[in-house]
Amino acid sequence: MVGKDAEDLRDIEPFGEGRAFHKARSGNGYYFVDIKEESCTCPSFKFGTGLVNGKCKHFSRVTGRLETEKRNAESRPKADFSAAW
Ligand SMILES: [Zn+2]
Repeated sequence: MVGKDAEDLRDIEPFGEGRAFHKARSGNGYYFVDIKEESCTCPSFKFGTGLVNGKCKHFSRVTGRLETEKRNAESRPKADFSAAW
């Protein structure tokens, strides 16, 4: 389970605020996901097929990854503080 997640996360390259490239499962391309614009450049999103709640799987994964990173970033300073106290 953990190994699978790690593998999935390697497909994602975040850059900037709420944006990321998601490696295409087939072929060697990347999809551009923008959380703020709620868009993805994959064919599923473009043609509205196989979407869950109007979002493609890339969008969901990038959202999950960015939320996890945000949580980690928020929890780290707290740990440092408790250590300092
Ligand atoms: Zn997509």
